[in-house]
Amino acid sequence: MTASNQDSFHEIKPPLAVDQALAEANRCLNCYDAPCTKACPTHIDVPGFIKKIGTGNLRGSARVIFEANVLGASCARVCPTEVLCEGACVMDDVTWKPIQIGQLQRYATDFAMARGILPFTKSPVKKPGRVAIIGAGPSGLACAAELLRVGHEAVIFDAGEKPGGLNTYGVAEYKMTPAVALAEVAQLQKAGVEIRSGVRVGQHISIAELETQFDAIFVGVGLGRIGKIGLAGENLDGVVDAMDYIAELKIDRAKAETRTRGRRVVVIGGGNTSIDVVTQAQRLGAAEVHLVYRRGPEELPAYAHEVELAKQSGCRFVFLSQPVRVVGNGKVEGLVVQRMRLGAPGPDGRRKPEPVVGEELTLAADLIVPATGQEARLDLLKNLPNVKLDRNRPVVNSDMQTSNPKYFAGGDCVSGGQEVVNAVAEGKRAAAGIVKFLQNRQSTVDGRQFGAEK
Ligand SMILES: Cc1cc2nc3c(=O)[nH]c(=O)nc-3n(C[C@H](O)[C@H](O)[C@H](O)COP(=O)(O)OP(=O)(O)OC[C@H]3O[C@@H](n4cnc5c(N)ncnc54)[C@H](O)[C@@H]3O)c2cc1C
Ligand code: SF4
Repeated sequence: MTASNQDSFHEIKPPLAVDQALAEANRCLNCYDAPCTKACPTHIDVPGFIKKIGTGNLRGSARVIFEANVLGASCARVCPTEVLCEGACVMDDVTWKPIQIGQLQRYATDFAMARGILPFTKSPVKKPGRVAIIGAGPSGLACAAELLRVGHEAVIFDAGEKPGGLNTYGVAEYKMTPAVALAEVAQLQKAGVEIRSGVRVGQHISIAELETQFDAIFVGVGLGRIGKIGLAGENLDGVVDAMDYIAELKIDRAKAETRTRGRRVVVIGGGNTSIDVVTQAQRLGAAEVHLVYRRGPEELPAYAHEVELAKQSGCRFVFLSQPVRVVGNGKVEGLVVQRMRLGAPGPDGRRKPEPVVGEELTLAADLIVPATGQEARLDLLKNLPNVKLDRNRPVVNSDMQTSNPKYFAGGDCVSGGQEVVNAVAEGKRAAAGIVKFLQNRQSTVDGRQFGAEK
């Protein structure tokens, strides 16, 4: 790896220095009914933790963050704060800029990591009821921590070689490196979270075995690969699934660089994953990077601030273009796209793209990366007994409980793909639901009704 390349993969936002953090903390108005806290899916007491930074109580500040979100360190880096807490900050007007909540959160949680302050304390009092958690991504980790906090035993089974889910294998490196993601998981493990890595449920251990060994099961398996997109020629050498491309970059940078450096890369999609791919391909030294999207710039679903970053890094956007086939001779040579125009709005209110007959264009390419949406992990989900699925996602109630009361689910496998902070919030909610379920179950032992434990 070259030095310049290594630099280009450093976390893009440098941490705040002490004086910057103090100045920023002292700008906060400590709003009553803080809109920033409401906008955070985990409801971190934002003015509470910022005030503690202002008074130099960093330990206390980190505690306030971890109380609501045990993955506060990664969320500080990867959250789209522009549309969550900072987007809701009352200081976001023409004169002022919103408080840099993400950066302040990072300041406090970095301090906690450096001092070995653990994100939660395991209850010394054990409660009956063991819980199996499938998946060591943000949702599973948050669920485990909340269960341990109240005294239930929880064991996470994860198919990956390393834990962390997409925090480790997916999120763009310029936001968070795998080292940071793994250091955060290590803190959770120190606090008592047990993770059995390299164990794929359904392969290395069966669902039936989990059922006999555990009293409740949380499913936090996220989503899978992009899968086939149905283009002629997509089996040619040089067509790479976005999830594989991103994971390769995280696991083996040199290999990803060899695949990309000096190559013409075409990415298909328009969501945040496609933007991550184009930005990272550019940083890996691609000769040129095009993003092909079938609608126009106004319809692009990716976050505006990330699109801007992609533009700044040199990506060219090819709007109103529908991929029709991959061309090449054994190896990819190009992507043929059909020009589109926007027609009448469809049932979702968005104007539907329709072909402009006779207008096709070939984009020269050595590497084509489809990034059009991840598939559900049906290999597991379809085998969960009596768990109803709707559009390939487990149907859950407000406690994240599925149609089989013993099974709870949360994170991307339920939402269809949101943010790390949403997965954490759902893992927490599921833990609260599981606690209720286990208490009710306990109170009916021997057929006698005792009422729920207080
Ligand atoms: C490319 C990309 C970039 C992203 N960037 C951001 C970002 O910048 N900011 C942000 O907030 N969010 C981002 N997200 C979204 C975020 O990563 C996810 O919302 C979040 O990780 C979901 O957490 P999860 O726990 O539901 O699932 P995952 O993080 O997907 O974790 C699921 C875990 O389940 C395990 N698993 C799967 N099947 C099995 C099985 N059968 N047995 C055992 N274990 C299994 C997997 O190994 C994995 O560790 C990004 C997503 C992608 C795809
Ligand atoms: S909205 Fe902004 S100013 Fe108000 S408490 Fe939150 S961070 Fe502080």
